[in-house]
Amino acid sequence: DPMVDCKACKKRFRFDDLEENVCPDCGGELTEPRQFNMMFKTFMGPVEDDSSVVYMRPETAQGIFVNFLNVQASMRMKLPFGIAQIGKAFRNEITPGNFIFRTREFEQMEIEYFVEPGTDEEWYETWIKDRFDWYLRYGVREERLRLEIHSEADLAHYAKACTDIEYAFPFGWKELEGIANRTDYDLKQHTETSGKRLEFFNDQTHEKVVPYVIEPSGGVDRAVLVFLVDAFDEETVRGETRVVLRLHPKLAPIKAAIFPLVKRDGMPEKARRIVEDLQPHFAVFYDEGGSVGRRYRRMDEAGTPFGITVDSETLENDTVTVRDRDTMEQVRVKIAGLREHLTERMEDWTGNDK
Ligand SMILES: [Zn+2]
Repeated sequence: DPMVDCKACKKRFRFDDLEENVCPDCGGELTEPRQFNMMFKTFMGPVEDDSSVVYMRPETAQGIFVNFLNVQASMRMKLPFGIAQIGKAFRNEITPGNFIFRTREFEQMEIEYFVEPGTDEEWYETWIKDRFDWYLRYGVREERLRLEIHSEADLAHYAKACTDIEYAFPFGWKELEGIANRTDYDLKQHTETSGKRLEFFNDQTHEKVVPYVIEPSGGVDRAVLVFLVDAFDEETVRGETRVVLRLHPKLAPIKAAIFPLVKRDGMPEKARRIVEDLQPHFAVFYDEGGSVGRRYRRMDEAGTPFGITVDSETLENDTVTVRDRDTMEQVRVKIAGLREHLTERMEDWTGNDK
């Protein structure tokens, strides 16, 4: 990536981030853009000499290409097929920041999807749509997502086409994921340097082809940041600010919290039994500390979709109240049908008015 330095305050910037050709901090004059190697260099083994210089991977993709033949043969795959990988990648970023948006160590998720040459453009469009819909499926607001198609001048040397999925972060529209048509570039490149032919033999047509590759490449940390930012909400309830994380139930780390209304009359014991019943099926949380209103609010902030309260009526007829995180509405439900009730509501969840 090209970078520039400010001659006055010595700060360093990514050239692509700048709108004008002066320092955004002090207005000072900038150096000419220079290429900056973002790879982390280190030494492998006990001796620090040139022969043991290694680089930490800046993306997970290359490991997939190296394993292309292995996976194809051992899994007996036919085109089209994909190999997905998730793992750490490292880049010596010029400007890390914006919480976990840009970090020097991050978690990447990539799919290399191998297709017959000639079908690549169609698969490229399919993957753009699938990946866009994935964010919608987990509750991200559509108006905060957009596709940004790279112009020919912006394309990496290996790509025929590339589209970014961008999100309207509080610090501006930024890339969340990229979908690239990498053509047969990588397989050919590995073939050239390793001498091992990376191709696919079609036993119907008896032809060998070098597949084209469609690559969705996303940041796990960025996705997490988007789900959090998009779900975060503050509203005024009876003169008080309520902080609520309107997470999709599938993403909520805790699905339900169980509260005894008071710490006596057998309510805690009853509540603990509900915890034991639900725990094998969902992540649940037990809390008996403080007023029930406080306990609800703590769970609102953690994004827990349901608050279940054991009260005096529970002791009479084995029902509990189930409070909805988003609407704060409560319904009474039989304990015997509680698991089914929660499962159904989580499956039927269609978003909210966030
Ligand atoms: Zn400056």
